[in-house]
Amino acid sequence: MYFLRRFTVRHARFFEGLYNTMESTMIAFDPLSRRIGYNRLERPVAIVEKLTKGLLFDCQMCGQCVLSSTGMSCPMNCPKNLRNGPCGGVRPGGLCEVIPMMRCVWVEAWQGAERMKYGVERIKVVQPPVNRELEGSSSWLRVVREKAALQRSLRPSSDRSKHAIARAFRGARKIEPAAAPVAVEPSAALSEQAVKESTAVFTDPKKFGLEK
Ligand code: SF4
Repeated sequence: MYFLRRFTVRHARFFEGLYNTMESTMIAFDPLSRRIGYNRLERPVAIVEKLTKGLLFDCQMCGQCVLSSTGMSCPMNCPKNLRNGPCGGVRPGGLCEVIPMMRCVWVEAWQGAERMKYGVERIKVVQPPVNRELEGSSSWLRVVREKAALQRSLRPSSDRSKHAIARAFRGARKIEPAAAPVAVEPSAALSEQAVKESTAVFTDPKKFGLEK
């Protein structure tokens, strides 16, 4: 909800603290989560995440949450879906050129960042593009898997494109590992549609004019 979005940005410092406490608690529970299985946890946690973040931040469940790097203003609410902003079209009063009644999501983000402990440092880091294969999945669990994997120096995924993005966006990964994840993903955390589309070029090359 729009007014709640503006409320969370005004209280960005409070939500920063709340999130950090929640994150370190979830990481501490990583051994138990692994015993239960991240695949099993994916759907119930994603539902809770969608309900709470949907209410507070109009979360779109992109799967690579960067709220703590964008002043608690979700960039997926930007009509251009910019992961780094603002665009050049911000109107007087900080209003959006595409939705003139709405405050620019990125103007809000920079103002929220100024209220946070590490906000300004974080918002200056260039964020990678969204990996649509992760849409609908839990960012909370992704952060835990990535940070727990770093702590345990687990075997990362063999997906070279993931490593290329992680290398290209080292700064973003250092602050927000889930923004450029490399740990192995449980199948329940992958969007079937996006996976189908991304592999179609191999399974049906004719469709892409790659084969006569
Ligand atoms: S003005 Fe802001 S919210 Fe609107 S499209 Fe540009 S960056 Fe996105």
